[in-house]
Amino acid sequence: MNFNKTLDGIKTYEAGKPIELVVREYGVDPKDIIKLASNENPYGTSPKVSQAVKDISDKMFLYPDDSMHALKEGLAKKFNVHKDEVIIGAGSDQVIEFAVHAKLHSSAKVLMNSITFAMYEIYARHAGAQIIRTTSRYHDLEEFYQMYLEHKPEMIFICTPNNPTGDAIDTQKLKEFLRRIDTDTLVVVDGAYMEYAAFKDPLKAVSAEELIREFSNVLYLGTFSKAYGLGGMRTGYGIANKDIIKAFYKLRPPFNITTLSLEAATVALKDEAFVQECIGKNFEQMKAYETFSKEMGIEIIDSFTNFVTLCLNDDQSSTEISLSLLKKGMIVRDLKGYALNAIRVTVGTPAENKRFFELFKEVVK
Ligand SMILES: *Cc1c(COP(=O)(O)O)cnc(C)c1O
Repeated sequence: MNFNKTLDGIKTYEAGKPIELVVREYGVDPKDIIKLASNENPYGTSPKVSQAVKDISDKMFLYPDDSMHALKEGLAKKFNVHKDEVIIGAGSDQVIEFAVHAKLHSSAKVLMNSITFAMYEIYARHAGAQIIRTTSRYHDLEEFYQMYLEHKPEMIFICTPNNPTGDAIDTQKLKEFLRRIDTDTLVVVDGAYMEYAAFKDPLKAVSAEELIREFSNVLYLGTFSKAYGLGGMRTGYGIANKDIIKAFYKLRPPFNITTLSLEAATVALKDEAFVQECIGKNFEQMKAYETFSKEMGIEIIDSFTNFVTLCLNDDQSSTEISLSLLKKGMIVRDLKGYALNAIRVTVGTPAENKRFFELFKEVVK
């Protein structure tokens, strides 16, 4: 069958391998499998959230509250913005999709970093847009600006901290960059790991409120999938000027997140102490990776997230090493697809990290 030609250049997104797949394909005992591949919170979610979800499980037959009032109120309070400046998505992924379709058409251009979150390109290609990438490994905003002048893209993606490298941009530099961009260019600032960056270094903390007050063309993205420990609930959000949000609403399917997701996210916002405690443990544990990489003579990228990127030496193949680890039940992310001979490892619990260090030593030459 012939399909829409825009699909031809699209590579299917490869999600972190689920535990079930490793059990099926490699016969590893499920209790020996550790997943450090999708940057989930290894400490789970707040016990208050689990309880709240159980308590409303008898409401599953009802469609969710499509106004999402309680969750939007919670987010508006957290970010000190207005409810009308917030949209909820089935993961922030869905908000990226809204943004792309609201802005891009088949002759449009979109600018993004050489190495960044793979879904930006996939969604942009759905709209038939042309992808333009910088050349530097890390976000170089001067290079972004030069390419912006040259190509005049309709849309720009900035990911800070960036996935899959973990580095973050200085907030002041980001704002200076945004001041040079015309207000008809939609700039997406993806803060999927912002809670981590804000904890580690206030200079990297981006305030959604400040961004949208100063810039009518900026969309800030956040998610419950990472620090809030709700990856399975598929809930994210966008914060922007009311006009942008209004345009996105035209693309939003009704009831785009579930009753359980709504409840989970709303309650999660009320237990900030849990999230901060997990983030504290994350950076405590990250030190073990820094020590380990030094011992092993491997480059580690300074990370402002809940994962580390280990850049392997030339005689070590990231694909072989991640496959060997997988066969032993340790799931990490091979970054070969991003043209990096590196693996990305979510910082786990102390026991998970210790196991990673043991297995890595076994599989590396
Ligand atoms: C995980 C992630 C997202 C989105 O996750 P959702 O689960 O769809 O909310 C967005 N951007 C980046 C950079 C991510 O790492």
